[in-house]
Amino acid sequence: MTKTTDFGFEKVPEDEKARRVAGVFDSVAARYDVMNDLMSAGLHRVWKRFTIAQSGLRPGQRVLDVAGGTADLAIQFARRVGPHGEVMLTDINPAMLVRGRDRMLDAGVVAPAVQCDAERLPFPDAYFDCVSVAFGLRNMTHKDRALSEMHRVLRAGGRLLVLEFSRVWQPLRPLYDAYSLKVLPLLGKLVAKDSDSYRYLAESIRVHPDQEQLKGLMEQAGLERVEYFNLSAGVVALHRGYRL
Ligand code: SAM
Repeated sequence: MTKTTDFGFEKVPEDEKARRVAGVFDSVAARYDVMNDLMSAGLHRVWKRFTIAQSGLRPGQRVLDVAGGTADLAIQFARRVGPHGEVMLTDINPAMLVRGRDRMLDAGVVAPAVQCDAERLPFPDAYFDCVSVAFGLRNMTHKDRALSEMHRVLRAGGRLLVLEFSRVWQPLRPLYDAYSLKVLPLLGKLVAKDSDSYRYLAESIRVHPDQEQLKGLMEQAGLERVEYFNLSAGVVALHRGYRL
């Protein structure tokens, strides 16, 4: 029997999800950054700054940004690790990756931009001091495989940072649901001329594991001392785990 998975609120065959997700990011790439600022009222910048602060990175270290898209994190990581460090920006989607590469160059950052699937990372075992994935995990078909791959490429003592939408504090849920399921697709329609992609993005948040479930997935992938920080009342959570 064909295995199915979530694509927002829809169930689709597993081998179809990656193609559907590619369609979403092909469509939103050109307006991705402006829509991020608009939809989160600039908050995504604060969440990303917090993520960088929790990375514990020092000059000279190696970082892999998985599903790095338009390179917000990669640019900040490059500043932290300095000229003797190493940053790799990766994404499965060429439209997003090209924007990321251009934004890195505009910011004066010279770093490789590698097109690859997070479920099959083309990097050696135990290579990176830090691996990050921001707002990318929920789009992946096999989150367990992607997390195992991220664990594999971390060196002993290295850390994985997962920044992702999560379960918002219960009293705020009705307001948040109205905003994300009604207002976001409307903004997508008006600004990016694409309400379906923004509907998918909102729905995919609802079916993504909550804080405790994601912690469990990370532990199953081999990460240790996993903890999470709720940001903006749990709209987003940063999970951090170590390879020991
Ligand atoms: N990390 C960036 C940020 O925080 O702005 C981009 C996040 S964007 C919402 C999600 C990204 O995940 C897209 O660029 C998409 O192409 C990428 N993605 C989805 N599935 C992927 C996979 N299997 N492997 C690698 N990247 C993937």
